[in-house]
Amino acid sequence: MDKRNQIISQLEMNKNISDSELAALLETDINEAQPDARTEASLSEDSSLDLFLFESADRVRKNVYGTDVYVRGLIEFTNYCKNNCYYCGIRCGNSALSRYRLSREEIMVCCRTGHKLGFRTFVLQGGEDDYYKDDILCAIISDIKTNYPDCAVTLSIGEKPYESYKAYFDAGADRYLLRHETADDEHYHKLHPESMSLQNRKECLWNLKEIGYQVGSGFMVGSPFQKTEHLIKDIRFLQELKPEMIGIGPFLTHGDTPFKDQKSGSLELTLRLLAILRLMFPNALIPATTALGTISPDGRELGLKAGANVVMPNLSPVQVRKQYSLYDNKICTGEEAAECKGCLERRVISAGYKMVVSRGDFKK
Ligand code: SAH
Repeated sequence: MDKRNQIISQLEMNKNISDSELAALLETDINEAQPDARTEASLSEDSSLDLFLFESADRVRKNVYGTDVYVRGLIEFTNYCKNNCYYCGIRCGNSALSRYRLSREEIMVCCRTGHKLGFRTFVLQGGEDDYYKDDILCAIISDIKTNYPDCAVTLSIGEKPYESYKAYFDAGADRYLLRHETADDEHYHKLHPESMSLQNRKECLWNLKEIGYQVGSGFMVGSPFQKTEHLIKDIRFLQELKPEMIGIGPFLTHGDTPFKDQKSGSLELTLRLLAILRLMFPNALIPATTALGTISPDGRELGLKAGANVVMPNLSPVQVRKQYSLYDNKICTGEEAAECKGCLERRVISAGYKMVVSRGDFKK
């Protein structure tokens, strides 16, 4: 058997491999490995690596989750942000963006729509917006939990003090998404202004764990200045944190950020990392992200086939969707929630899986 396929088998069996083995998988040339370009006859060594990798990942995901795909209704409730991350379109320094906030009532309307469509998790995501004080957020969370006791609430609102995280949890929040973005200090400082630190980000993640949230972390693939060694550190940090959810997606440029002239991440490397993460974390909840669907028309289908088991249709009111502009050309900004769900469901089925009506909690 090819050396790299041996590494993959070892990874499937032991859920771990060494740094140099990881580097071998990550650095295998991807030029020939585009799934779209595959034909029986022209399977190069490299694309066969990806085929073998994705098949292993799919086997492992089916062992734990079968063909079920969980749905999270994403409510992007504010695009105000006090931070100024160099990659992100809603950074406070972007004065070209018109800003919005959803009211408690508007958020509840999103949930009503989502619940009718069969969504049993609502994700409240936004910039770091101090307009929403803890008591408002807690009122929104408990409103959702009272009206939809069969649903989970996930928060994705950045770095907060321990007491705030605790208050949201006590109000009923179940899960929290906070990507670490990069686990390398120096790299972190190339992506964020001086005022932000990896240490604080990590501390937030440990606090969330301690409080009892199902925690999600992750990183962007192909962010500016990223090297293989950083990706290996990202993976090692996730192994240390043991998150219930792992979100990764390609870095995509945004024309009104300092990184407007940088190169975007690649579909191929993102898929490869998805599969590696599935093999290392058989039980993790891993979304096929909107960024993956943005970089390639069938990116999310390919993501599911490479080990992802979650999709996150957009539930935000259509009139604000374009303004939640993390990166350029973001998909799903024009459709009503029902169309979004229908479109995603067709994609899930075409990839060979089924969308289920369920909270979709982490399986221990
Ligand atoms: N304020 C929240 C939510 C941030 S948006 C927080 O701090 O967690 C959610 C994720 O989008 C980020 O964690 C980041 O990984 C991703 N993101 C932001 N800008 C991006 C870009 N230009 N390309 C790809 N992903 C991006």
